[in-house]
Amino acid sequence: MVTTNVERLEGELNEVQNEFLMANGMDFNVNFNVCGQSFCYEITDKQLNICKSYSYEVNFCSDLEKKRYIKRYAKLSLYDYLSKKFNVELPWGALTGIRPTKLYYQHGENREKFLKEQMRVSDKKYNVLTKIANAQSNYYEVSENNTAFYVGIPFCPTRCSYCSFISCEIGKLSAVNEYIEALCKEIEQSKKLIKNLRSVYIGGGTPISPSIQNVKKVLDAVGKVNCEYTVEAGRADCINEEVLALLKEYGVNRVCVNPQTFNDSTLQLMGRNHTSKEAIDKYHLTKKFGFKVNMDLIAGLPLENFEIFKNSLEQAIALRPENITVHTLCLKKGSKLKELCERLPEGEVAKMIDYSAERLEQEGYRPYYLYRQKYMAGNLENTGYSLPGEECVYNIDVMEEIAQNIACGANAVSKRIFVSENRIERIGAPKDVKTYIEKIDKLLEDKKKLFTT
Ligand code: SF4
Repeated sequence: MVTTNVERLEGELNEVQNEFLMANGMDFNVNFNVCGQSFCYEITDKQLNICKSYSYEVNFCSDLEKKRYIKRYAKLSLYDYLSKKFNVELPWGALTGIRPTKLYYQHGENREKFLKEQMRVSDKKYNVLTKIANAQSNYYEVSENNTAFYVGIPFCPTRCSYCSFISCEIGKLSAVNEYIEALCKEIEQSKKLIKNLRSVYIGGGTPISPSIQNVKKVLDAVGKVNCEYTVEAGRADCINEEVLALLKEYGVNRVCVNPQTFNDSTLQLMGRNHTSKEAIDKYHLTKKFGFKVNMDLIAGLPLENFEIFKNSLEQAIALRPENITVHTLCLKKGSKLKELCERLPEGEVAKMIDYSAERLEQEGYRPYYLYRQKYMAGNLENTGYSLPGEECVYNIDVMEEIAQNIACGANAVSKRIFVSENRIERIGAPKDVKTYIEKIDKLLEDKKKLFTT
């Protein structure tokens, strides 16, 4: 555990410590001082009862920038101490945030110096960021007018054992119709806030798990659009001809088919009600309807080794969907699955991630978006790859936070970007379905205020 005299920084410093597995259970203190032109930090290692000092010369233009740098260099000092103590360099160095690509863009011509020299990001990860920026170049546009429109349906047929979303098992919920009604109301009102619509994404949960009538109601509320339109069909056990025909009729042009793995015993262990063969069949069915396909795989699933992951990746490549996103398994502490996953040999997940980058690039895919999460196996990342020209605009606009994100549904977070002020305002809808239904009118009022004043 890390303590510090810097306000509201303990959480991020603990994230830095958590990235060093060997530091588990140890205690440190980070003490900050200004010494002349420099920021000085003293790291106290409480077990060894030793104290080490670090100082950095920092130039800043405003109080806000000063505060940001105090935090940034505090994390760096702790990273430097732990890296030396355990003789380990982490792939993302002292970066703990979700969006390393944002830092890449923000630092312009100084990006290499900042990321590699100052934040200790490895050459390999820096090169990935460069490739991503190249792949995004045809789409990357920071604009307060551009809009990504999100609709969330947080229901699934069963709950996967690794799931950390709010998704509910649809059979156990009585308020599905009421939810769809509130959601359609929110969609209708929120559509009025859209300026230049670049993408629509209906996600979940498994948004096609409600009845076909309810799915139709949502599609009706969204209406016809003239842009990228994605539905995260997700699980093979929900995909069928009837729902695909409906999506086609409403102008959806991209569908997510997410096998996660092509290993049947893992699918069973995770509580997914389908086999790998069914995922392959449903992929072909989706293609028969002419949709572009986004496919998700997960590296580091319980009891999977490199060979099993490699086989899943090869099967995905053989199908040749437009997008393949390779996620690193992310589990909350204490979960049963986490214990199983911790039995994976050291470095096994990193090997899977490296292999997927190499193989996908050999096969003509290129990385085009990337994000990190807390509790990720091996301090790694999620990377989306696409065939050139087939990038999913929604993923870029939302991950890079370069467009307004108008989001509808329980737990959905809307974001308004203020480009000249370099800031973002957010409104999060209630997580719980029942509270969302109850609070819908207040949410609509707040949202209107956010996007119009
Ligand atoms: S399909 Fe996705 S959202 Fe649904 S239970 Fe599984 S992991 Fe959670």
